[in-house]
Amino acid sequence: MTATITPVATSTHEEIYRVEDASVGLTGFIAVHSTLLGPAAGGLRMRPYVSAEDALIDVKRLSEGMTYKNAAAGLALGGGKAVIIGDPAVQKTPELLRAFARAIDSLNGRYITAEDMGMSPADMAILAEETSSVAGLADGDFASGDPSPITARGIFNAIRCAWEHHTGQIDLSNRVVSVQGLGHVGWYLCDLLNTAGAKLIVTDVNSAQLDRAVATFGATAVAPEDIYAAEADIFAPCAIGGVLNSETIPQLKVSLVAGGANNQLATPNDAIALHKRGILYAPDFVANGGGIINVATEILKISNRSRFVADRLEALQVTMAAILKQAKADDVTPDAVAIATVQAKMAPKAA
Ligand code: NAD
Repeated sequence: MTATITPVATSTHEEIYRVEDASVGLTGFIAVHSTLLGPAAGGLRMRPYVSAEDALIDVKRLSEGMTYKNAAAGLALGGGKAVIIGDPAVQKTPELLRAFARAIDSLNGRYITAEDMGMSPADMAILAEETSSVAGLADGDFASGDPSPITARGIFNAIRCAWEHHTGQIDLSNRVVSVQGLGHVGWYLCDLLNTAGAKLIVTDVNSAQLDRAVATFGATAVAPEDIYAAEADIFAPCAIGGVLNSETIPQLKVSLVAGGANNQLATPNDAIALHKRGILYAPDFVANGGGIINVATEILKISNRSRFVADRLEALQVTMAAILKQAKADDVTPDAVAIATVQAKMAPKAA
């Protein structure tokens, strides 16, 4: 059985498709936002969206974010994303994944997928049975494996860079960092911060993980709703999107927000609200680019992987520093400068 692939009308993206195969319980979307800089790369997410409209909104937003993230990271990749509607714990089957992989394959390399929420390296291996447009594999010549340690390294660099920009000091020892989310990224970040001598205030909805952070890093645990008002120097959101909003921003007692979660700002106005409060915000799609840099080594078949990753992480930090400097000079939000920076990279060059 072949999935039905129906184009969705769009004026903001190059291509969007609705993918359906009732025989395997599949409904999903593939969005190619831009291929201006290269094939559109971005992960596949499976979530129990309440409606197809919600899934479509998410895939559009996420694929645009990937265009910005890949451009900021200096990669020869455009931005795309795919979503499947359903609870991965119960509805994810090899047949469903294979059907979706065939839909990805029909785009002939214009969209390249990888892991995102609800997906694992084992799932990527199933997709790879049907398409070569997949990365994030555990095995193979260019397999890049878990991107989280590199993502965390990039965020750590962003924190140091932004802290130096804001305070003139690069040393994080005895600085207090509140970390929201102790999953793949948050855990590795806590490890780096702990090694740098920072004091940690942590939260997670998973209480066992919270206990582990207290035992491992000597961190102070707080309830999820108390992380925003924690007395800290730096807040690192590493869990979910939309956490910087009109309810949480007034509670913040930090002077810097820099973390790994995607889409931390609930709305563009929230960047302005942070700016007005004198809280520096390190744009998420620049801070968390380490993960896609790692995945890019697989997509682009880079032979000297560690050199590529080190060079790109360093360049990412230079980009972050330039964005923060420009924002300060112009008295505008770093988010606005970051968006303008990547849009300039994608603008057609004058003859
Ligand atoms: P993860 O699922 O491994 O970890 C997320 C953690 O956040 C979990 O421990 C979860 O229990 C916790 N959590 C969820 N809701 C919470 C809440 N309301 N309050 C506190 N804790 C909560 O995910 P991850 O791979 O660590 O990714 C974290 C974020 O970073 C996501 O937004 C992801 O999109 C983004 N990101 C990840 C990577 C990567 O390399 N993994 C790369 C770029 C961006």
